[in-house]
Amino acid sequence: MKKIVATAATAIGLAAAYTVLPTYAIRLSSYGVVQRTDQKGILLTFDDGPNPTYTPQLLALLKQYNIRAIFFVVAEKAEKYPEIMHQMIADGHVIGLHHYTHSDSYKMTPRMLDAELLKGKEAIERVTQQPVHFYRPPWGKFTLATLPVAKKHALTPVMWSKIFGDWKVKTCQTTLQNKLHHAVKDGAIYVLHDCGMNPGADDEAPAFMLQQLEKFLRDTTALGQPFTEPVNWKRYVSH
Ligand SMILES: [Zn+2]
Repeated sequence: MKKIVATAATAIGLAAAYTVLPTYAIRLSSYGVVQRTDQKGILLTFDDGPNPTYTPQLLALLKQYNIRAIFFVVAEKAEKYPEIMHQMIADGHVIGLHHYTHSDSYKMTPRMLDAELLKGKEAIERVTQQPVHFYRPPWGKFTLATLPVAKKHALTPVMWSKIFGDWKVKTCQTTLQNKLHHAVKDGAIYVLHDCGMNPGADDEAPAFMLQQLEKFLRDTTALGQPFTEPVNWKRYVSH
């Protein structure tokens, strides 16, 4: 019995060393990851799309306010909705990788992650005809393999400085607006979600996020343009 307990404890310890510990170490230290910019203004990023309902609405909104963002797309969805991807490129947005499927790095061996990044990057590049430089793992989960494998594929990991819980309708309806305003700061990287079809998210949450984002953009741009431009992001390409 003692031996079983000891073996289980060792297994749990090894699993943590491969998964949770690197995630916290990387988030705390920012080692190998862009977590804020040295630019004036805010960098907007959007995860989990493209979504045929919400992403076109978001693109129209960003165009209205003359704002460019980074879209961390799920590559299989990019393949499914190439016309939305083409619109992103035409509008001057930057595309990053958010895995081929919205898969969990914690459940992948280094070899599996390697295959996931290769497949996802190639799929997006086929659709957009542009190189992909940036990568954000789903749920921001890093393992010991993430940095070396990302580097192998010439991908710079980009995290966020502010996350708002906008994948829940309730959060959008209650606290999101305040949170967006309170986080305004030079160098901040915001993450929002233009698709709600992941475990733990509400399918229709992006509709409510878009309402709040519209108000936020209206309020902030009235005071001056608080967002960065894509031309400034190239310096973060580290390969
Ligand atoms: Zn995601």
